[in-house]
Amino acid sequence: MAFRGAHIQVDHVSHAYRRGGPLAIRDMSFDVTPGEALVLVGRSGCGKSTLLQILCGLLHPADGRVLIEGEPVEAPSPDWVMMFQAPSLYPWMTVEQNVALGLRFSGRSREIKSRVPEMLELVELSAFAKRNVQDLSGGQQQRVALARSLAPNPHVLLLDEPLSALDAFTRHALQRDIRRIAAEMGITLVLVTHDIQEAVMMADRALVLSANPGEISAEIGIPIAGERLPNTPEFAAARHELVRAYEAAAGLAMADVDRLETEAAEPLPAARQGRA
Ligand code: ADP
Ligand code: MG
Repeated sequence: MAFRGAHIQVDHVSHAYRRGGPLAIRDMSFDVTPGEALVLVGRSGCGKSTLLQILCGLLHPADGRVLIEGEPVEAPSPDWVMMFQAPSLYPWMTVEQNVALGLRFSGRSREIKSRVPEMLELVELSAFAKRNVQDLSGGQQQRVALARSLAPNPHVLLLDEPLSALDAFTRHALQRDIRRIAAEMGITLVLVTHDIQEAVMMADRALVLSANPGEISAEIGIPIAGERLPNTPEFAAARHELVRAYEAAAGLAMADVDRLETEAAEPLPAARQGRA
């Protein structure tokens, strides 16, 4: 199983959903190095999903560009795959049939026989290969989706809050497993979450985003070696640092709201004077 992580370059990317409308994200620039696990954290509406969709070519930015391995991203590709909160499996198919879909759709059906058992082993579902996906738990279904994403050998795995619908125990197990698998395979991981614990659990580095428009507010390294355990001092320290940056980012957004309200309120006394 030879995977290879890709280098991602985000170069002055801005996006508005309507021409001349409000910017969902403004002038974002950053790199993700091959094999790195980067997390984008920020409260709802700060442009996390918009950015991920731009990274995988589902959305074209109004300004700026994204390069993967030096090439501009123009469209989705099996080399960079996205996982969403809903595992979106085909309920009438077995586990192994679902895992094979990525290969089938990219014209690589000949690899199914060797890759699918490998991927099922990786996500610890070999015993469930012939089962119908409807018989599986939510966490197991998300593992099937992960195996399906990894089967075509992507260089980049993009995750948009993929675990937020799961119970805490299952979520924790998957956080650990996805980090382990991506590290073992050398895949570049870009993860989006509003959950600080999840960010510290999974990433080597965090970009904290502020909202309206979405901008990078802070960059924080999470240099914890080995297995990540929430009850260790280094985990607590990283979480603390990230919470502070997250609050500061939210505070900036609140300051913006205050400023806008002040600006809106200022003309009023003048108007009253005018009438007087
Ligand atoms: P997040 O994932 O961080 O919650 P999003 O990227 O979904 O944030 O949204 C960022 C901003 O862009 C929000 O203000 C949101 O309302 C807006 N937005 C997102 N998707 C669309 C869309 N399809 N059309 C118009 N506006 C959108
Ligand atoms: Mg989102």
